[in-house]
Amino acid sequence: MLVVYWICILFIIFIYTSLSLQDVPLGDVFVSYEYVFGPVLFRHIGSALGINNVPSGVCSYSCSYCRFGRSLRLSIDRRPYSNPERIVGEARNMLTKDIDVDCIVFFASGEPTLDTGIKSIVDTIKSKFGMSLGIVTNSSLLWRHDVVHDLLLFDVVVLKIDTVVEDTWRLINRPHRSLSLDDILCGIETFSKLYMGTLITETTLLRKINTSDEELIELAEFLRKINPSTSYISTPPQLVVERWVRQPTEEELVFAQDMLASKLGEDKVSVLRAPEIEKFDVRGDAKEYLLSILNVHPLELERSIAILSMEYDDPISVLRELADMRAVKIVSREGRKFVVRYWES
Ligand code: SF4
Repeated sequence: MLVVYWICILFIIFIYTSLSLQDVPLGDVFVSYEYVFGPVLFRHIGSALGINNVPSGVCSYSCSYCRFGRSLRLSIDRRPYSNPERIVGEARNMLTKDIDVDCIVFFASGEPTLDTGIKSIVDTIKSKFGMSLGIVTNSSLLWRHDVVHDLLLFDVVVLKIDTVVEDTWRLINRPHRSLSLDDILCGIETFSKLYMGTLITETTLLRKINTSDEELIELAEFLRKINPSTSYISTPPQLVVERWVRQPTEEELVFAQDMLASKLGEDKVSVLRAPEIEKFDVRGDAKEYLLSILNVHPLELERSIAILSMEYDDPISVLRELADMRAVKIVSREGRKFVVRYWES
């Protein structure tokens, strides 16, 4: 009897593990990759595979310029949001496709440091594949020792720091009510002293919100203390839900660049005008590739069509098919069309 019991258990484990890397339903469309996407070209990191380990809407901030709109689950509680074994399996599958990537980057549709699985994923990827790892974080949990410890494991850390002024922080980043800007800035400073990898910062400028002399002087002073390898100034995504968020003017961008460069040095400050994800390297099914990118970033209609046209003769019909299946939808903003996952915007 006991033998039959164990045979049943082993059979169930076998079925489970053999299914775990096959297709899983995602928004009515079957995909092989639930967490890993790419390869893509990240504007400040280079060619990489992405890991989307936290779902959209789960974040410690609800930024006014967020590409996904308001965070539905504003949280500072760390928990397991991903399946580390599955992520490693997906990365392994991707890496067997002879792709040319510099590293693997945690770039999530929510805040990646909320996921307690980070350490195990990083340790396994480093030991099994010897790849460099990067992460793009909103920095809001750096007052936590466990988050600092996790981030120390990465070769490249991109910290988003839009402002160091309390009122502006509340207006732009709309933080979880328990967060304190002083604690976050203190945590960032501590982290910068301990960290031996490549530290990058990114500041998103919003017209007339964080572009004044006083704002930028305080930001520059803070950045000088943490001494990043490069400090990037960026613009909000093109698809922004909040109507009051506006792109900075060219004068504001140049002024901010000059201001930061005066404290950090010319070679350490750069303005990012390209989209967050620049080029695409479609491997496998183009439909699946497009959906995995859309999970972390809405795309302009033309760019989505360009991705599908790498495999399909009639990319517009394919897009229509995806829309009919409620996997994607097309939204308009200021005369431009974007493709988003169905559950967004
Ligand atoms: S930190 Fe990123 S994911 Fe979170 S609300 Fe801001 S822009 Fe959106």
